[in-house]
Amino acid sequence: MLTLELSVPAPADLGIELMGVPEGSPVAIEMRLEAVMEGVLASGTASTSLVGECARCLNPIEDTLEVTFQELYVYPESDAGADEADRLEGELFDLEPVFRDAVVLALPFQPVCEPDCQGLCLECGVRLNDHPGHAHEESVDPRWASLLALETDIASPSAGDEQIRSAGRGASTDEE
Ligand SMILES: [Zn+2]
Ligand SMILES: [Zn+2]
Repeated sequence: MLTLELSVPAPADLGIELMGVPEGSPVAIEMRLEAVMEGVLASGTASTSLVGECARCLNPIEDTLEVTFQELYVYPESDAGADEADRLEGELFDLEPVFRDAVVLALPFQPVCEPDCQGLCLECGVRLNDHPGHAHEESVDPRWASLLALETDIASPSAGDEQIRSAGRGASTDEE
């Protein structure tokens, strides 16, 4: 058995749409290699940094990530199926696909900057956590706008009455 500690630069395109490991950022790996019947069992942890953006408010997020992995790398001459096991190439094996899968599985599908992030105002786009109590006048759906015009037409005769009445009052005041 062999234990290894190493730091390697992160490969490109490691992550999901909203969150990932910046290319070249250090990945700290602590690994245990065990000789088994069919090959070498590699297990350990890898820690690295994450950057991304909040799925609700798009604010930048910085975080760290630690993943665990375990993979059996079989000897080239082993008759284990090539699809179900990775193979040793001489004394080398490729940890990257295993690390990549572990990272992608560990990432939140919808990363958030804080658990109670309220997201953005649907009307003006301000970040709601920065503006508690943010609200707009009740807006009118454009599909109802013509109905609103109709309502104004219906209402206008009474508004006219009001004008006539106030005009009448004005006249009576003049007479006094
Ligand atoms: Zn947010
Ligand atoms: Zn708003």
